Amino acid sequence: KEKLFKSREGLFGTLKNIFTGKSIVDGEMYEELEDTLVQSDIGIEMTLKIVKDLKAEVKARGVKKPEDVYPVLKDVLEGYLITENTKLDIQPGRMNVILIVGVNGVGKTTTIGKIAAKLVKDGKKVVIGAADTFRAAAVEQLEEWVKRAGAEIVKHPEGADPGAVVFDTLKAGEDKNADVVIIDTAGRLHNKNNLMKELEKINNIIKKKIGDQPYESILVLDGTTGQNGLIQARVFNEVTKLTGFIVTKLDGTAKGGILFSISEELKKPIKYIGVGEGIEDLREFNSKEYIQAIFD
Ligand code: GDP
Repeated sequence: KEKLFKSREGLFGTLKNIFTGKSIVDGEMYEELEDTLVQSDIGIEMTLKIVKDLKAEVKARGVKKPEDVYPVLKDVLEGYLITENTKLDIQPGRMNVILIVGVNGVGKTTTIGKIAAKLVKDGKKVVIGAADTFRAAAVEQLEEWVKRAGAEIVKHPEGADPGAVVFDTLKAGEDKNADVVIIDTAGRLHNKNNLMKELEKINNIIKKKIGDQPYESILVLDGTTGQNGLIQARVFNEVTKLTGFIVTKLDGTAKGGILFSISEELKKPIKYIGVGEGIEDLREFNSKEYIQAIFD
């Protein structure tokens, strides 16, 4: 089995110990579970929810032995993960638009490169819009990834209007008969109003171009930032309509609890997970496989 997620050596590896070598299911066991979950960045609220749901399920199933609680926990956690629309909605015969949002440093650029590479490999024509015009270095870096992926880029000079980049990207996509257009956006969270206005403008430009056709708005989150990631998810979910998440850097964390928190709270699917810095280090997210990988 692929190394995949460090999570299994960390948090989830230790969970099993809580349920082994004990004679009865008691409050102490649940307290130990609570401590472990909190330590692994799952957050207090989510931890309390997990323990509450677990207790209810243990009761409903009439589970008596501590070791039998472990598989129940596995089911409870799996139940939080959204299983619908976990794949990017890419349909033949239309120009598919993917808007990528997220704060700087989470791995947006890298992730766009990885997605583009996958799509190009699948025979798709991909055009990428560099609408994060605030950082010249970001555009350069994106350009490198786009080249590596075999896609095309649309860019404007630093400081240009992101809306104009989006407009030109969609036009280029149309002119070139692109299958997929991916748009990178600036993720400056410090001014929520500005962020909202900018995303609103971008969304309007997209809608004007593609009409009622649905498109993806994906929030990229850094899997190593724990509760910060959940806060980012809340803010972005408020300022724009998200269709899903990509969680990066799961190779570098022994925690990974954020997957459960964002799924349970925001009820949006995780579309991909990032498991490394290379162009191929992006995996489709399958909740069953993920649970299997961290629990067994
Ligand atoms: P951006 O500012 O959001 O565009 O972030 P970048 O794409 O520049 O990525 C920031 C850093 O995170 C870079 O050093 C990337 O190599 C690294 N990175 C991105 N995704 C992953 C991942 O899945 N795993 C690991 N280990 N590093 C990643």
